[in-house]
Amino acid sequence: MPVTSRALRLALYCVLILAGAAVAGGWAMRQAQEHALEESARRGPEQLSLYANSLHTLIERYRALPAVLALDPELVAALSKPMTAQVQAALNQKLERINGAAQSSTLELLDSTGLAVAASNWNTSNSYVGHNYGFRPYFSQTRSKGAGSFYAVGVTSGIPGYFLSSAVLDANGQFLGAMVVKLEFPQLEREWSQGNDTLLVSDARGIVFIANQPGWRYRLLRPLSDSDRSEIATTRQYHNQPLTLMKTHTLRSFGENSYLTRVEGPNGPADYLWDSLPLSAEGWTLHLLRRPMAAAEDSRNAALAAIGLWLTGVFLGLFLLQRWRLARLRQRNREELEQLVEARTRDLRTAQDGLVQSAKLAALGQMSAALAHEINQPLTAQRMQLATMRLLLDHGRIDDAYKALVPLEQMLTRMAALTGHLKTYARQSPGGLRERLDLASVVDQALQLLEPRLQGEAIELSTKLVRPAWVRGDAIRLEQVLINLLRNALDAMQDKSRKRLEIRIEANQQLWHLTVSDSGGGIGEEHLGKIFDPFFTTKPVGDGLGLGLAVSYAIVHEIGGRLTACNQADGAQFTLTLPVAQEF
Ligand code: ADP
Repeated sequence: MPVTSRALRLALYCVLILAGAAVAGGWAMRQAQEHALEESARRGPEQLSLYANSLHTLIERYRALPAVLALDPELVAALSKPMTAQVQAALNQKLERINGAAQSSTLELLDSTGLAVAASNWNTSNSYVGHNYGFRPYFSQTRSKGAGSFYAVGVTSGIPGYFLSSAVLDANGQFLGAMVVKLEFPQLEREWSQGNDTLLVSDARGIVFIANQPGWRYRLLRPLSDSDRSEIATTRQYHNQPLTLMKTHTLRSFGENSYLTRVEGPNGPADYLWDSLPLSAEGWTLHLLRRPMAAAEDSRNAALAAIGLWLTGVFLGLFLLQRWRLARLRQRNREELEQLVEARTRDLRTAQDGLVQSAKLAALGQMSAALAHEINQPLTAQRMQLATMRLLLDHGRIDDAYKALVPLEQMLTRMAALTGHLKTYARQSPGGLRERLDLASVVDQALQLLEPRLQGEAIELSTKLVRPAWVRGDAIRLEQVLINLLRNALDAMQDKSRKRLEIRIEANQQLWHLTVSDSGGGIGEEHLGKIFDPFFTTKPVGDGLGLGLAVSYAIVHEIGGRLTACNQADGAQFTLTLPVAQEF
């Protein structure tokens, strides 16, 4: 593969891994943020109910106050008859005292028309005294139901507050007027503004009238209907406050009254976790708006962990891929090697078979020459013997003629044996023939074939053979091996004065050891490692082919044996080792 395309591929992999890391990191970051958001949303209602409680406690503290005061006989008596300045002054002071003790914002007493006849703030510039509040809904509620409540911006003071009122009745239950307590919430708003959260209280029409942050008050959470607007104008509930709509857009819902909302707030658009809680006693709704906290550290950790995981996964994958590739490569190499070994083995076997065959042919040629020589001599002797016999018969010497037949017969028998061997020797023996045979008788056969040479060269032959020495193999091939060994020994001893040839068969555990030792002076040290090589010979041209030992070695190995050579006292020693053949 060209270097540039390899580098390109590497760069592409790197980009892919980095892109994967970025995606994993981004995804984990988003998940962490999502989780933090949900976790934060879950905490909303809990916080909200704490704020609701503080508001509720504040209102409850004053709820009973107007009812208790309405029972005061002094007030009842004052409203029962036309008010004198003296009575009014006494009432004003009384209300001022009580207001101070109860720590309410203002206390006022209205007569049956809604006119404030006495008030705790009688001596301030915003005094209620002399103003008529009959148009306020809490007054009509008190007249009809005995009690009333209403949140409104004070028409006199301009200060918003919650008015709680209770009817003042005479002994007959006749409506004489109303006792009113006004609560203001600046203290509560101050307390609430200490946190970062925005707290709002809206009325039944969705008008925010309490807010702990500036700019949120008198905003509309939903549009007002025309009838609502005219009613607000009549009751002067929010006095002259401009009521502007606050645009909101819900992004997500976490359940009832819990949302992620985009708000066009006083400080511009922003997203809030918006939780609401209806306050049923007042008909109001309390809202808690929190900025979603970006848990930067958590999301960074999550992103790092995800990137770490991704990279671990990628490198593990690459590692496994590499291992798999390596294993595949090894497998392929092994298969190729096996095929190669098989092919070479086949070639070697073919070559070996060829060698065996050509060596056999060479041996056959040599043997034919030897046989021709061996046979020519007895043939000449026999011809002379026959001429002698004819002469004896001509002279009627029948007995002498019979005697002359004996050596003739002996010579013929030997010749027959020789040709018999020649016949078996020349045949092509199948490679796989593994008959059970006696090694000692193979030695006998070989010695018989070489008999003329042994005698002719006056060889001192000594044999120590264990009989029977059962082995498995091909008799003819084994005979060929032995002939090779013996002939080599005879060749080596040719010009030696003492010619000793020793053949032994011994058993050692499950092996037969056949040794052929001679007194031919041994093999040159430098030749010891080569004598089994094909075509290695030290004999003159025409005498040796250098195939005998190579072929013998191959034959012995083929039947599971070993052939080794070494030097001993005054000559060479060849050892043929074969496994002992079992009975069956
Ligand atoms: P060749 O007999 O045709 O030379 P061989 O393969 O039978 O081929 O023998 C190879 C060589 O091994 C011989 O040429 C000889 O040098 C050596 N050799 C074999 N047998 C003997 C032995 N008994 N003594 C000394 N040298 C031997």
